[in-house]
Amino acid sequence: SPSNAEIVIQPDDYLSLHKVSKHFGAFTAVSNVDLSINKGEIFALLGASGCGKSTLLRMLAGFENTSSGDILLDGSSINGLSPHQRPINMMFQSYALFPHMTVEQNLAFGLKQDKTPKVDIKQQVAAMLELVQMQHLSKRKPHQLSGGQQQRVALARALIKKPKLLLLDEPMGALDKKLRSRMQLEVVNIIESLGVTCVMVTHDQEEAMTMADRIAIMDAGEIKQVGTPDEIYEQPNSRYTAEFIGSVNIFDGAIVDDEADHVTVVSEDCPEPIYIGHGITCFEGQEVSVALRPEKVAISKEVPAQGHNRAQGKVKEIAYLGSHSVYHVALASGKIVLATELNAERWAGEKITWEDEVWVYWSEHAGVVLTA
Ligand code: ATP
Repeated sequence: SPSNAEIVIQPDDYLSLHKVSKHFGAFTAVSNVDLSINKGEIFALLGASGCGKSTLLRMLAGFENTSSGDILLDGSSINGLSPHQRPINMMFQSYALFPHMTVEQNLAFGLKQDKTPKVDIKQQVAAMLELVQMQHLSKRKPHQLSGGQQQRVALARALIKKPKLLLLDEPMGALDKKLRSRMQLEVVNIIESLGVTCVMVTHDQEEAMTMADRIAIMDAGEIKQVGTPDEIYEQPNSRYTAEFIGSVNIFDGAIVDDEADHVTVVSEDCPEPIYIGHGITCFEGQEVSVALRPEKVAISKEVPAQGHNRAQGKVKEIAYLGSHSVYHVALASGKIVLATELNAERWAGEKITWEDEVWVYWSEHAGVVLTA
């Protein structure tokens, strides 16, 4: 009966890493990483150069052994498997296409090695060529293709065997800036249309935000935070994450009032108290930082009505960015605060320019209190 219909549960931990570490001699490149990645998810490992993201990806691929910990894919440990035994495929930054083979032959290669029947190879190659829109160039060799076309072939080759896990190593690294943003969306569409689970490595925050469902921020071999792009941006859990993603104003200070529905922070850099309109886990006297995104800080020549969340200063720089302008405002303490004005509104009020005395101010919902 319908009430007994089988419920298909998408396992929340299709790919899971348990306390995975990698040591090179005395150096720890990856430290005790726990991660759980959903089926069909595009997951990005994001971090500065040397943070260990490539090492982690190479351990998933099997090019590097784990020093300790376990990696499970679809319920089975893959630790003991060699790279070609794993149901995983990787697209390299350099694409690593076979230069002497045509597009078609590049795609067919892995299937041939698996002794797939010829008719199936033909059919699967044709389907994949269509998916990446390369049918018309199937007889070309890699050097006769543009960067974006080479990337599509590399992606098709990585996907043709329907891997349980696709790994992308700096997928846009070889493309120029203009092509990047187009290919980011194209690659996501192709991966999502096949429902393939994907882990990608990038040092480019915009790329991670554009392509990934969730992002892990790595620093010095550790995962600092895991979340959706907006969680990572709006609710950073540490100063490291707040400063790594986008630009941010940070006020160092201490909690002076800790209530159920609000907290107040006092900072030497801000002459007025900073009021946060919701409760957080903290204690009075605790040293904290308040992170404020520039687009949440307004600017005006008029004195704001509110007695908190405001500071007076002088405009030192203005960056015109098309839709909005970012003002660098120096406070009396010397602290520079970045504030934003929409350019559409710039013409409505009195125009603010260099060396003007201004106020910066923000709402009680703008600041994020960081304890780490
Ligand atoms: P990048 O963006 O520059 O590629 P990454 O975050 O991918 O950086 P990894 O390549 O994972 O960083 O390297 C992490 C750390 O481990 C680095 O400090 C690196 O020097 C070190 N490392 C990587 N491979 C080895 C190795 N085979 N032997 C010794 N140290 C290594």
